[in-house]
Amino acid sequence: MGTSTCRITDMGVGMCSCHPPAPPIPVIGMLITGAATVTDDMFMTSRVTDIIIHMCGHPSLMITGSTLVEKEAFASSRIADLYVGCVIGLTITGSPLVLDE
Ligand SMILES: [Zn+2]
Repeated sequence: MGTSTCRITDMGVGMCSCHPPAPPIPVIGMLITGAATVTDDMFMTSRVTDIIIHMCGHPSLMITGSTLVEKEAFASSRIADLYVGCVIGLTITGSPLVLDE
């Protein structure tokens, strides 16, 4: 089987800890970087090390991905893969057509 792969414009949800003294706040983000030469469903595909930016303005970095599928030498990120930075969260949308193990 596999899980839907993530691409530029796919979304994530997480908690941002970079607004002290406020406690962590829930935020939504969008992937803004991806492979220069690999597209899935017409969008540049995203991988470990690609960046997601959140509505509060803070970015995070994808840190988990497929153990089997690489795109431009980085593991392919899929729905429910994790990212860290100011925001710790996971991706929630992906390609309706392309699944990666
Ligand atoms: Zn923030």
